Amino acid sequence: MLITDQKEESNLSERDLSGMLKFREKMSITDLDLKNKRVLVRVDFNVPLDEYGNITDSRRIRMTLPTIHYLLNENCRIILVSHLGRPGGQKSEDLRLAPIYKRLKEYLPFVRIFHAPDCVGPEVENMVKNLKKGEILLLENPRFHPQEKDNDPIFSGELASLADIYVTDAFATAHRKHSSTYGVCPYFKQKGYGFLMEKEMKFLTHCIEKPKRPFTVILGGKKVEDKLDVIKYLIGLADNVLIGGGMAYTFLLAKGYSIGKSVRDLTRLDNIKYYLKEANNYSTKIYLPRDVVVCDELDYPTEIKTVPITEIGDEHVGVDIGEETIEIYKKILSQSEQVIWQGPLGVFEKKEFENGTREIARYLIEKEIFTIIGGGDSAAAFEKFGFQDEVSFISTGGGASLEVMRGVLLPAIECLSDK
Ligand code: AMP
Repeated sequence: MLITDQKEESNLSERDLSGMLKFREKMSITDLDLKNKRVLVRVDFNVPLDEYGNITDSRRIRMTLPTIHYLLNENCRIILVSHLGRPGGQKSEDLRLAPIYKRLKEYLPFVRIFHAPDCVGPEVENMVKNLKKGEILLLENPRFHPQEKDNDPIFSGELASLADIYVTDAFATAHRKHSSTYGVCPYFKQKGYGFLMEKEMKFLTHCIEKPKRPFTVILGGKKVEDKLDVIKYLIGLADNVLIGGGMAYTFLLAKGYSIGKSVRDLTRLDNIKYYLKEANNYSTKIYLPRDVVVCDELDYPTEIKTVPITEIGDEHVGVDIGEETIEIYKKILSQSEQVIWQGPLGVFEKKEFENGTREIARYLIEKEIFTIIGGGDSAAAFEKFGFQDEVSFISTGGGASLEVMRGVLLPAIECLSDK
């Protein structure tokens, strides 16, 4: 029995771009009357930290600098708010924004920057009152308060009371309805998106609205559920969908292959069968691996080998795409004009299983194929290989870019002022 219902089936042929494209109707930072104003800027400085609390990749901070410079030029008092990690609604010394504050001062050496001990309360209000034009106040992690994730209206109101105008540049958190990303909006008359948000949205929506063809999408990673809605949206839109990573094994299972001990999501089997069948009615070709790298044990493998998909044994764990698959995927990519890549093609964190992801990444760069990397783990893979500056664009947001790719208008954009 198929889980998919009639409604879902009809959606396949009626792709609606209007939600996703509504961001063009929203105010951008350049539409706002900012001169001398106090501006609350939601940024996403949720950067990776090492065990000593040092920032290992500050791309998310660097990417917001154009917005900050613009506000400085407008003589604004800038109040930055960002979460860091998942403190679970409690104060956590490890997840204070001190390392970010330090990095921000390095990037903006001629600007006076202060770091508040909290994000709301009398002390913060006082710091905001004393803030002068052209100065920046970095608020402390709003996720120290459970109200942030609950989108609590009182907490949102307290945050909003700190400023006159709201700007969001937090693309990576824009799919969340939290106080600082969404709940604050009704309290502001003027609210718009910053330059990073604009760049992210333009890249993604342009590729989906007017794809250069052939348009190929690479989907990998572990979680099937995240990517299925994207596949549904892409059927009839993309020319090729290349599947890899952990999610490939549920697809192989749906096609009747044995997958041994590889990851799977049995709850999605029927949906996958339906999409594979449905793709035949459209011009979209869905490709599955022809061979895979398997091992006996993911953590401490003693045996690693490549097998055709017809020979995955009961004892095998599938961990990467094989050489034959890499060659087939390269051939399809060589003929592609535009590529969007979501999710690594294998367990790239381990040297033994990184080959598929690395080879495909290297090929895209070598052949200068226009490629957008959809953030998250695929972005981490490019960082690991040192390819991050060579690819066309790496999104700062994994979850958010998946949402855009399935046609959703992100809540943090939806709540902004119309032009
Ligand atoms: P996702 O969040 O769904 O994009 O998943 C990313 C994770 O998928 C990465 O941490 C990879 O290590 C993991 N992954 C990729 N391929 C496999 C695989 N064959 N088996 C298990 N995990 C995988």
